[in-house]
Amino acid sequence: MKVNILVWLIILTACVLFILFYIENQNLEFEPQDEDLVENGELPEELHPIVEEKKDQLVEKAEDQGISIIITEGFRTAERQDELYQQGRSEEGDIVTYAEGGESYHNYGLAIDFALQNENGRAIWDMNYDGNDNGESDWMEVVEIAKKLGFEWGGDWTRFKDYPHLQMDFGLSIYELKRGKRPDDPASD
Ligand SMILES: [Zn+2]
Repeated sequence: MKVNILVWLIILTACVLFILFYIENQNLEFEPQDEDLVENGELPEELHPIVEEKKDQLVEKAEDQGISIIITEGFRTAERQDELYQQGRSEEGDIVTYAEGGESYHNYGLAIDFALQNENGRAIWDMNYDGNDNGESDWMEVVEIAKKLGFEWGGDWTRFKDYPHLQMDFGLSIYELKRGKRPDDPASD
């Protein structure tokens, strides 16, 4: 009788292992499909040409209003995004992003971050700073210019306000970008 139970246990274990193995292989079969999609739109390694151009215009137009700005971030790799995501979570510091690798427009070359520069050339993130002395916040003046150039401002977000952040999504969601969709590249026409 004891031997019988042992045999059944072995058969049962074998069945469970087989099922687990089967599920594992099923999952693997789905992966090539994902790769196909990513292949349709390779990850960029720099800012999208239009974003690059608008970034330069932003710096120039701000300068015209007596405001000196620097671009502190542009294109960002998914690895760098993952590192930033750990800040304030598994790593020390304040939370700076809610986006993991592949979930930020920076990862697709579609976002930039800016900061103001004071008279000593130091980057400042003071939204009340009025270096050109016109009674208006320099920061908001830059945001106004950016919006006219077609940027969306992270300070308008409701969930997590990202005041230095400017992006152009070209009508594409992060979900679509992750699935390999890309905005048109004017240089490739
Ligand atoms: Zn940003």
